[in-house]
Amino acid sequence: SSKKRVLVAETLEQAGIDLLREHFEVDVRERTDEETLARIIGDYDGLMIKTYTRVSKQVIDNARKLKIVARAGSGLDKVDLIYAKEKGLSVRNTPQANVVSVAELVFGLMLAVSRKLAAADRYVRSREGWDRDRFTGVELAGKTLGIVGFGNIGKLVARRALAFDMQPVGYDPFVDAAGMAEHGVRKVETVDGIIDVADYITVHVPLLDSTRNLFSTEQFGRMKSTAILINTARGEVVDEPALIAALQAGQIAGAGLDVYEAEPPNHPELLTLDNVVLCPHIGAATREALNRMTVQAAQMIIEALED
Ligand code: NAD
Repeated sequence: SSKKRVLVAETLEQAGIDLLREHFEVDVRERTDEETLARIIGDYDGLMIKTYTRVSKQVIDNARKLKIVARAGSGLDKVDLIYAKEKGLSVRNTPQANVVSVAELVFGLMLAVSRKLAAADRYVRSREGWDRDRFTGVELAGKTLGIVGFGNIGKLVARRALAFDMQPVGYDPFVDAAGMAEHGVRKVETVDGIIDVADYITVHVPLLDSTRNLFSTEQFGRMKSTAILINTARGEVVDEPALIAALQAGQIAGAGLDVYEAEPPNHPELLTLDNVVLCPHIGAATREALNRMTVQAAQMIIEALED
């Protein structure tokens, strides 16, 4: 047939695949390792990937007809971007598709840590007793929330913080005070300035040289002993051994983590702490976000292949 061909290289939501099928001949594979992909990619005009598919130099060299790689989701670390650009191959992602889900998880984690929900659940299941005093928590209302990184997710977090009667303050060297004031947020000029006032700190920066270990021993030492840290950004932004030490020493009150330096996390001490709530990198894992991701990625392929 004269229809263009698209490869969906790993398991993806049906909505995006259905949309592709309205336009192209579509092959769907559960997972495609690099070697296999390099062998078969020559037949395809478009490629949709998500978490696992590696688009290496070798794959790109064999991709004779390929015009577009669409990544359902954000991370492009498995794509050789420099080589793709050199070869005129368009690579796109859908970083906006999951921002609401991440912002909502931030509140899930803040509430879970503040009210000790995970430990409370474990307690009830243990049938150990009914000692409610163990689970006295704190309210979000009236507390200062430090938002570090005021991009797409940071802004959505700010809006939700206002609904919880929190006072949001923001740190982001690339957003000016007016840009934050627009969202009801007071701008603070330094990370230390955030740390000094914040009851909760939530991190929404990308992983860069400038953000690696942004929170380490010195920062934890400076935080309020009642402070709670939420990390849904990238594990490497927080120095994990330093965080564990701060939690053990009671330098800060708790943490809610969705991301880790290694995934799954490889510091066993983390798993013994009662004042942390741990999620397996599920910030984007909602029906809505997954659907939006694949539909947007499919639309990008349609746009690129239909002229
Ligand atoms: P974004 O690019 O819209 O915002 C990032 C913000 O960080 C920008 O405003 C930028 O100016 C700011 N920034 C850059 N360097 C900084 C620094 N040194 N100090 C302070 N601010 C700095 O990104 P986003 O969509 O808001 O996402 C934020 C992060 O969340 C992403 O980088 C990603 O790693 C993570 N994320 C996690 C999940 C998950 O499943 N847990 C899902 C999506 C995104």
